Amino acid sequence: MGLAGSALGQQRVVVTGVQAPIPESCKREVQIVAAKLPELGPSEKPWTWVVVCSTKAWDLIVRTAQTEHNTCCAFTILDKGYSYINGVRLLEPLPAVSPGYIIAHERGHCETGSKSEEDADRWARQKGYEWGKKDALKTTSAK
Ligand SMILES: [Zn+2]
Repeated sequence: MGLAGSALGQQRVVVTGVQAPIPESCKREVQIVAAKLPELGPSEKPWTWVVVCSTKAWDLIVRTAQTEHNTCCAFTILDKGYSYINGVRLLEPLPAVSPGYIIAHERGHCETGSKSEEDADRWARQKGYEWGKKDALKTTSAK
């Protein structure tokens, strides 16, 4: 299910793990991602952001993808141009992992083309997002 948005440029946001009608919580999770991406600057890269709107689906996707890290919240498959986000972590963030950081970190992988966590974190930090740091107020207003 795709959501068009001119502000997103080449980036698109899709959902998985739920069936129509899309639950309100899932819509809110998508809105958080769709609001954050343009704020991080325009991107030339075609990219797909998959908001996983069910924890069951998330567990399955993580197991299938065999990612080694950050599996609480998000991961990126560089060669495919996909980032997966655990939707519930946007609405109920872990103390050290803000929604802004989750999105900025994965976007960092996308923009740097690097699998390195350091590179992704450096990119995110330049945008003002860090692990262990709360999002600035202006960035949490996406409702
Ligand atoms: Zn990472």
